[in-house]
Order: sequence, then structure tokens, then C-alpha cells
Amino acid sequence: MHAALATAIATAALTAAMAAAGTVDASVEPALRALAAELDPRAASALASIDGTGRRLLAARAYLRGSTQMDERWSWSASEAAAFEASPERRALDAAIARVRCVFEAANPGSTLFVNPEFRSLELQLERWNTNDTVGRAGDNLLGAARRMLATPVRRGDGLGHQAELLRQLLLEHQPDPVPTLAAPGLSPHGRMRAIDFQVESAGRIVAGTDSAAVASEWIAAGWKDRLLAAIRSADAGFQGPLATPDEPWHYDFRPEAGQGDAGDDLGCRLAA
Ligand SMILES: [Zn+2]
Repeated sequence: MHAALATAIATAALTAAMAAAGTVDASVEPALRALAAELDPRAASALASIDGTGRRLLAARAYLRGSTQMDERWSWSASEAAAFEASPERRALDAAIARVRCVFEAANPGSTLFVNPEFRSLELQLERWNTNDTVGRAGDNLLGAARRMLATPVRRGDGLGHQAELLRQLLLEHQPDPVPTLAAPGLSPHGRMRAIDFQVESAGRIVAGTDSAAVASEWIAAGWKDRLLAAIRSADAGFQGPLATPDEPWHYDFRPEAGQGDAGDDLGCRLAA
């Protein structure tokens, strides 16, 4: 094969691979790496598994903003999740879900609520972050802002420490556009079972699921958003929500300390002792 043609093919393949994995931006990466070195080690490690500068910047923003709460928020390891399975907290969560489901079924004959019983591992969060479209687009926009700030001649002449400080300020002030439909890897409340996604099932089929593109049709027009909310309120079992930004009618935070009521007992939906 002609050498120039071989080079062209190799270059095209590399370009395609980089587009798939997300662009690595040489004007921003050094400052991002300097910033990452100051992050919580768990966050720095997660960043290393994220594809492309844009997605990494977007995650770094979340890690900076959550830096004082990493211990309370960071997703469980497999052994922490196993410990939860054997705990009173697991039984309390199951009882709270059962209570909501019972109230919902009484009000909506023929339908029930499906809940994923598993916590969302860091590995799964990383996999989703690396492939999610809203994260990709918000990352591209954030990368554009970082490039505009750092790629000027005067900034290129700055020391790396100063560039990292400028990048930190940008990340702390930046508002992602669009709003990503995922929490940064490691920081999803699903990683500690502090949030539950309720999906509506009728005749063995999910009729209102967790697809953001189907909120208007499955949840609003079909009325399931209001019906789920009514069951959540009536059950008073510690669920708060739904998540408003982004709009996720299925996503409720679980704060067991908040749900103490006995509403629903007349339906036979008692909380287990
Ligand atoms: Zn959720």
C-alpha cells in the first residue's frame, strides 16, 4: 500500500476512535490533571476512567462542588453493598417500597411498581457517563468554555498552577447545558440506595420507565406522574421528590427519617415492624 494512503487510513481510524471515546484536548488537559491531583483520591481515580476531556471536566466540576461531602456521598464498594443487604436499613427500605407499592396498587388496579433492588455500582455509573448523550453534549460545551479561557496566548504563558486555579473557578461557576441526566460517577444517590426509581408496570410490561425522552408521553400524558406522586404522599414512607432538574418523575430520594406517618394503614399497607 502507498505510504501516504496508509497514513491517511490510520489517521482516519485514529480520528474515529477519538470521536467515539471523546476528544482529548491538549490545551486543557494539563490544567485538568493538575486540578485532579488535588481532588479526593476516589474522585481522581474515577476521572482516570472517564473518556474525553469534556466528560472529565463535567465530572471534575461535580467533584469540586461535592468535595466536602465525599464520605457521605461516595458510592458503595461491593463489600459495603453486601453489608447493607444484611442491615436493618435494607429491611426499612424494602418495607417503605412495599408500602408505596401497596398504596399504588390499591389506587390503580392492574398496575404495580417495579423497583431495581440493586445499588448502582461505580463501574456501572462510569459506563453510563461515558456513553450518555446529555453528558457528551454538556461536556462539549464546558470544554469549549475551558478552551476559550485557557487557549489565549497570555494564558498559555501562565504557570500550570495558575491555569489550574482559573479552571477551578470556571468549573465552580459553570452551569451545564444541557442538564445531564446522570450524576457524576461515584456521586449518584443510587450508589448508596439513597434514591429509588419507581417504574410503572401493567400486564407484565413497563408502561412508564426511566427514559428521559418518554417523560411527556409515558408519565405526563398517561397520568402516571401524578398517580405515583399521590401514592408516595399517601404512603408517607420517607420518599421525597420527584427529581425536578432534570425532569425525572420516577426518581425519589429516600430519607427514612422524614416518613413517620401512618396514612395508608387503612388500606392494609402497614410498614413492617
Ligand atoms: Zn434515579
